[in-house]
Amino acid sequence: MVQTAPYPFEARRYPARLPALQGGRETRRHPVVVVGGGPVGWCTALGLANFGVPVVLLEADDSVCFGSRAICISRRSLQIIQRLGALPGFLATGLPWEGGRSFWRHQEVLHFLMPHDDNQKLPPMVNLAQYSIEQILLDRAEEQPGLIDVRWQTRLTQLTPQADGVELQVDTPQGAYTLQADWVVACDGGRSLVRESLGLKLQGTSYEGRYVIVDILMDSARPTERLAYFDPPCNPGSTVLVHKQPGNVWRIDYQLREGEDPDAAIQPEHVAPRVQSLLDMMGETAPWKMIWTGLYKANALTLDRYRHGRVLLAGDAAHLVPIFGVRGANSGIDDADNLAWKLALVVKAQASEALLDSYSSERVAAAHENLSYGTKSTEFMAPPSFAFERMREAALSLAVRHPEVRSLINPRQTSAITYTQSPLNAPDDARFSAGPVPGQVLAEVPVTACEGDSRRESFLSDLIGAHFTALHFSAGGDVPAELQAWVVAQAQQGLPLQLLRVTQKACSAHAAWDHTGRAFPLYGAAPGTLVLLRPDGHVLGRWHQADMPAAARALQAALHPN
Ligand SMILES: Cc1cc2nc3c(=O)[nH]c(=O)nc-3n(C[C@H](O)[C@H](O)[C@H](O)COP(=O)(O)OP(=O)(O)OC[C@H]3O[C@@H](n4cnc5c(N)ncnc54)[C@H](O)[C@@H]3O)c2cc1C
Repeated sequence: MVQTAPYPFEARRYPARLPALQGGRETRRHPVVVVGGGPVGWCTALGLANFGVPVVLLEADDSVCFGSRAICISRRSLQIIQRLGALPGFLATGLPWEGGRSFWRHQEVLHFLMPHDDNQKLPPMVNLAQYSIEQILLDRAEEQPGLIDVRWQTRLTQLTPQADGVELQVDTPQGAYTLQADWVVACDGGRSLVRESLGLKLQGTSYEGRYVIVDILMDSARPTERLAYFDPPCNPGSTVLVHKQPGNVWRIDYQLREGEDPDAAIQPEHVAPRVQSLLDMMGETAPWKMIWTGLYKANALTLDRYRHGRVLLAGDAAHLVPIFGVRGANSGIDDADNLAWKLALVVKAQASEALLDSYSSERVAAAHENLSYGTKSTEFMAPPSFAFERMREAALSLAVRHPEVRSLINPRQTSAITYTQSPLNAPDDARFSAGPVPGQVLAEVPVTACEGDSRRESFLSDLIGAHFTALHFSAGGDVPAELQAWVVAQAQQGLPLQLLRVTQKACSAHAAWDHTGRAFPLYGAAPGTLVLLRPDGHVLGRWHQADMPAAARALQAALHPN
């Protein structure tokens, strides 16, 4: 990679700090150590902090990441980030967008829109550079110093699994030391030392095609959308992607042609003419400055298990997903969300360790789904063989005249995953004809939040925090005594479970009033329906008429799976 100018972002630098040591060992043992302060490490730490679990986060560097990495953050990730308390920063800085355009040679062949409707609070995607993503999450972590102990310039050098925990050796500019943890979450990225220490190998496909990644500074009023140019006149035979980022930074990715020397290709003198001819083709006339050039090679790889005893792997440490379709950081944020509540309940002895195996099975299944989409997108962006190239050309040329073919060239961007095969799902109730099934994420819908006499325009997701939620649908807010008693009993045992009434007719104390009349049909609900949500917003079970023994069994079975 080559940096030629500063980004419009000032990274704060953090010093290393040694904890209290005795004979080179930290005196305190920790319930959870997170290795790596990338997007996934921060989300894991914040997720655990939401449940009051203290975390030590080890980060080898002295600041957030540097250079050009993830930029597109999905609605699903934003929903998770909302629960982590960091949404305002993402919305204040990020650029929202809803779709994009694809061009083949001289012609526009596709204008796509990602799923979006009036029920949504959040845009389908925001563009935000990874250094900003990490800084906003870090700012949020700094608001919880008692719970998140960040150790900068602290590099993990050795990890030794033990029967009831893990021993970690770290190195800092002030010296090395050893620390002990009950649990370790490895978020140490694509070159994970944790993964290597456990002798684990990622399996899958590594693609040969290479992309040059260029960030430039350019003032342009062009809207935020994803632009793809296939075989464009400015760079025949190549594929070029263009994205707008905050601060007048533009990301341009272009495919290297066969036989091109990658090291030479990222030198500014080779990059500048290609960027200029692209901007000429796009009709961009403003002056521009190159900030960064680097190389990217797509990998579609995963481990087959993400739990190894007391070590859990997440994000790029567990899987590498091609950037096309923007599933890398987004799927890692989903890993963190899935893991945090499960690990928190295990640490607090409110759930059995076996719950953590469901983290592995659910997220490995999600990785396979992400990899299958990522692989299709990669093969379309950079065809790996002559046959693929011919097929792509056929699809693009047909799309010019036949709108019905355009779905073939639609880049399926990341969307929320349904855990259809999850061992935690309660058997579904056949009386439902609509609504999110067990394993699916909650459906978003505007509601009026009622609290005593106050009324507030809101969305359902605003009222779902980091806990289990019993969503009870009724005409006016009446809740069966059995349900009420069950929720109170769980709370008395310290289990994070809240009751949220969804009312049809009017506000009642502490309820979500379905003032648009959309929530009931969206959930396939009738007065008396109960939907039990997990702390990560996935449906655990649903009963068309609240069945308290079945709901209680579903919760117990989730907390203590066989
Ligand atoms: C060019 C490019 C574009 C991309 N675009 C997108 C996109 O638009 N959307 C998307 O979702 N994804 C995208 N990705 C992928 C995304 O950047 C990664 O998936 C994401 O960074 C993974 O996050 P992570 O926290 O798992 O790992 P990382 O971000 O790699 O973080 C790992 C952290 O661990 C630290 N660390 C490593 N080893 C140690 C150690 N031994 N001790 C202590 N700390 C250690 C590192 O310093 C680092 O801070 C893109 C990637 C690239 C390269």
